[in-house]
Amino acid sequence: MRGRGHGIPGLVKGMVTTARTGLRRTGTQEYPDVSPELPPRSRGVIALLEENCTSCMLCARECPDWCITIDSHKETIPASTAGGRERQRNVLDRFAIDFSLCMYCGICIEVCPFDALFWSPHFEYAEYDVRDLLHEKERLGEWMASVPPPAALDEKASEPAEVAAARRPQRTVPAQRAVPAQRAVPAEGDSP
Ligand code: SF4
Ligand code: SF4
Repeated sequence: MRGRGHGIPGLVKGMVTTARTGLRRTGTQEYPDVSPELPPRSRGVIALLEENCTSCMLCARECPDWCITIDSHKETIPASTAGGRERQRNVLDRFAIDFSLCMYCGICIEVCPFDALFWSPHFEYAEYDVRDLLHEKERLGEWMASVPPPAALDEKASEPAEVAAARRPQRTVPAQRAVPAQRAVPAEGDSP
C-alpha cells in the first residue's frame, strides 16, 4: 500500500506542467473577430462555374450521397451555313447541392470533365434550419468569387502539355516531290 507522501511528486509534476502550459504562447484564433488563416486547399464549400457545365450528369451519378440534383433541357442550334446540319446542346435549368447530405469527399469535383466544380475555402454558410442547406446554382455560382487561383507549378515540374503544344513550331507541308516519268515498256516485237 502506498503512503500519504507518495502523491506529492505527482502533484508537483502536474503543477509544473500546468505552469509551463500557461506560459506557452496560445494558438487560439479569436474567430469571428479574426478570420482563420485556412490552407489554400481547404474544403469549405463547392462552387459552380455554370458556363462550363454541360449537364453531362457525371457528378450527380458519381456522388455517393446522391445530393446533387440536375435538370436540363435540349436546345436546337440552327445550322451556321447553308445546307449545314442543326446541332443540339444541353441547357442547364437547375443545379443544386444538398449540403446537409454532402460529406465533402470531392468526388464530384474530381470527375467533372469540364472544370465546372471547384472547392472554395468559404465555410460560413450555416443555417438554423437543415432544409436551408439545399443550395441552388445561383448561390453555388456566387461562391466562385472565393475560389483561390490554381497553385503555381513546382519549379522542376514539366511544362503542361497544352503549353508545350502551343510552343512547338508549326509543321509545314513539304513541297511535293517531282515524280520521275515512268519508262515506257517496250511492246513485243519492238526493236531494242
Ligand atoms: S463532395 Fe462528395 S458527397 Fe458532396 S456533392 Fe460532391 S460527390 Fe457528393
Ligand atoms: S458539373 Fe461537370 S460533371 Fe456535373 S453535370 Fe456539369 S459538366 Fe457534368
